[in-house]
Amino acid sequence: MSYVLTCPNCGPREVTDFGFGGEVTTRPSGHPSPRELNTYIYFRRNVAGPQREWWVHRSGCGAWFLAERDTRTNEVKWTALPEDAPGAATPDPVSSGEAR
Ligand SMILES: [Zn+2]
Repeated sequence: MSYVLTCPNCGPREVTDFGFGGEVTTRPSGHPSPRELNTYIYFRRNVAGPQREWWVHRSGCGAWFLAERDTRTNEVKWTALPEDAPGAATPDPVSSGEAR
């Protein structure tokens, strides 16, 4: 299914211009146990509904940014550079890894 994402730098583009970086996760602090690290690296919430995600404008400016997308409908509520994102201040760019 194709839809439109809005790059914070370049404006609206087809989603095929972008790479998906996975859902926003929270890195464990301090000295996490192997189980906590395993959970952080491999487990995802995989919600059916609004989800905060990382995207990269692969065919454009190359910027990483955040988006809130409804995973059921692909409706994108907002996109923003990390420093401009509503809510949590410092999301962790490390997630499922490479863009697809
Ligand atoms: Zn861009």
